[in-house]
Amino acid sequence: MIAPYPIRVTIADKPRHETPLTAPGEILHTGAAEYPGLDNWRSLPLSQQPDWRGHEDFEDAYEQLSSNPPLVFAGEVDKLKDRLAKVANGEAFLLQGGDCAETFDGVTADKISAKVKTILQMAVVLTYGASLPVVKMGRMAGQYAKPRSSDMETRGETTLPSFRGEIVNGFDFTPESRRPDPKRMVQAYHKSAATLNLVRAFTEGGFADLRAVQQWNKGFMENPAHTRYEQIAGEIDRAVRFMDACGVEFEGLKRTEFYAAHEALLLDYERALTRIDSRTGQPYVTSGHFVWIGERTRELDGAHVDYLSRVRNPLGVKLGPSTSPETALELINKLDPEREPGRLTFITRMGAKNIREKLPPLVEAVRDSGAKVVWVTDPMHGNTITAKNGYKTRRFDDIMDEVRGFFEVHRAAGTYPGGLHVEMTGDDVAECLGGSDVIDESAFDARYESLVDPRLNHKQSLELAFLVAEALTAVG
Ligand code: PEP
Ligand code: MN
Repeated sequence: MIAPYPIRVTIADKPRHETPLTAPGEILHTGAAEYPGLDNWRSLPLSQQPDWRGHEDFEDAYEQLSSNPPLVFAGEVDKLKDRLAKVANGEAFLLQGGDCAETFDGVTADKISAKVKTILQMAVVLTYGASLPVVKMGRMAGQYAKPRSSDMETRGETTLPSFRGEIVNGFDFTPESRRPDPKRMVQAYHKSAATLNLVRAFTEGGFADLRAVQQWNKGFMENPAHTRYEQIAGEIDRAVRFMDACGVEFEGLKRTEFYAAHEALLLDYERALTRIDSRTGQPYVTSGHFVWIGERTRELDGAHVDYLSRVRNPLGVKLGPSTSPETALELINKLDPEREPGRLTFITRMGAKNIREKLPPLVEAVRDSGAKVVWVTDPMHGNTITAKNGYKTRRFDDIMDEVRGFFEVHRAAGTYPGGLHVEMTGDDVAECLGGSDVIDESAFDARYESLVDPRLNHKQSLELAFLVAEALTAVG
């Protein structure tokens, strides 16, 4: 249900704040940004928010977030937009991967490194398959808020608020845990800072060395289930050895750019972390480099579209099977009125059964309008099923089928299939069915860890990358 949201005092209205009130448009270099229109969303229909108005800790949490340092720098965000402009032009490929919902307990060196490692491994395979640079992005360091189909959850006699991600409330089904707690936003900020710090250390500090990544991929190949990928793996290996033999400057290849992305669902969090870029005077969401609007919050006249239209980050919008071509064009008008390449990414999540029918009208309408967006496939969210033993799951074959459909549709339309968006983890979980090293339902009781949607495990993620690489070379 869409409920109106009250106007709330902003940081600069508060007497405790030491920064003097500024005239509209004047630039603050610290604290929550003051900029014309940034509070417009407060009077628009706003869905999928917790009811924490009036919570005794709200103002304090908001103020802390507003005065904390930004998590990302606007210059990095602009660089990402340049990279995405290359994707829009068919000169690079985008890989987005990570948990459906991050958890606070999941912020450990082991889990973060496994995830980053898996994304880097996938990226090497895709780079080879596409013969193009791969822009690497984690659903990480801020992916804590979840949209839900119902505001309340009932178990037996008890009805409590639904779990909305650890930035809002706890997963345990007790009144205390399910009560939305604004202090969790501050905790999510700190967990995101810790995550980003380690990701930056890994990707700048030698962990991303192409030769190391190639060694990890050899580990994947040792599994007899994966022999069908031997040819591609062998070709990548020869390419790396060839570069080494030629004396290619591997120092440069030890580092890689890695960007942080999440769904900008919780507008209190995004608003408090918006800053004015000191170089350009423009507002940026500094909670992550790339943010997207979910399938359930992309109403054209809603708060999310309005808010994100006013910040300069590259944006994504999820498009499900009910999206009309008119809606897609309207979203472009609202979110990318200047038609800036790299500004807008459409992440389609149609379902394997729908993609060949539902995607062509969208792709054709956008193509014919002359607008240039990045097209990415999310082959996860349209393929969720309930397993016989009650777990929410997805079939590996459906996921791959949607990816194939995505390539077919773009080939037929003469447009560029720019990337892949997956829910995955670096760990050996059992949440999605299938893969060559087969996961079946009997493994769920012991190894199903996700609090929300099922993720590809480490091997399934790499296998998907190999299959996509095969599909890309076949299209080549
Ligand atoms: C998600 O990405 O976890 C999600 C909720 O997706 P969608 O908005 O596509 O349903
Ligand atoms: Mn999800």
